Amino acid sequence: MTSPIHESSGVARPSPNPVGPPPPCSDEFLRQVHDRSFEDASAEELLALAIEHFHPRLALSCSFGAPEGLVLLDMMHRIDPTTRVFVIDTGRLPQATHDLIDRVRDRYGKAIEIMFPEPEAVQDMVRGHGQNLFYESIELRRRCCAVRKVEPLNRYFEEAGVDAWVAGLRREQNSTRRDAAKVEIDALHGNRIKINPLAAWTHDEVWAYVREREVPTNRLHGDGYPSVGCEPCSRAISAGDDLRAGRWWWEDESTRECGLHVGEERDGSGI
Ligand code: SF4
Repeated sequence: MTSPIHESSGVARPSPNPVGPPPPCSDEFLRQVHDRSFEDASAEELLALAIEHFHPRLALSCSFGAPEGLVLLDMMHRIDPTTRVFVIDTGRLPQATHDLIDRVRDRYGKAIEIMFPEPEAVQDMVRGHGQNLFYESIELRRRCCAVRKVEPLNRYFEEAGVDAWVAGLRREQNSTRRDAAKVEIDALHGNRIKINPLAAWTHDEVWAYVREREVPTNRLHGDGYPSVGCEPCSRAISAGDDLRAGRWWWEDESTRECGLHVGEERDGSGI
């Protein structure tokens, strides 16, 4: 594919978010994002372009609880072993996820950038609402996700000097993800560039890549967990269930996002 990126410097205007900073890319790049010019690019092509354009100001968000992030980690590492990956350790992750983080670090010889929530914020929340507040209401579940996931993510972006990030979103995962573009301006996170290389991939395509490349994955998938998040908010599903039915299963599907990928207009909370 001919590279749709022609410039790597300069400031794009106008900003898609008038209250946020301008996106960290050129006018030409921004135009291509708005025109969805990247939709025909393969996952590997998008990652190569993103690395060429943004590395080392580029980082992969990997939860180590879904195969998509590991597929992307494998792809990025093959293109450039110095590419960056980060994970948010919420304090409620299962042991299987911690084991996988170490396994990936050892296999790829890669430093995993781990972020933790602010201890004081966690302490205040738990003292005020209990250890398992997320089961009590959507509002408290969102608060927990805000403290344990969203704040560390935003802090990571600020501290790590990241201008663009890669995520494993796929359109078929959830009704809230159906419109995800392969490259978008992330107004939720300071107008950074967000790249979703697997947006058009199917569940079967992801697993075919995992098998072909023998990519390490979370062992809880073998126990019926399609995705593994925090231990108290993840469960196994039965054959025929929706793939996201194992996350926040006590809530309506329309609210089942953690705040990392949804905007105020869709989530209703802004976290
Ligand atoms: S997934 Fe559950 S435990 Fe984890 S941050 Fe969100 S509400 Fe809290």
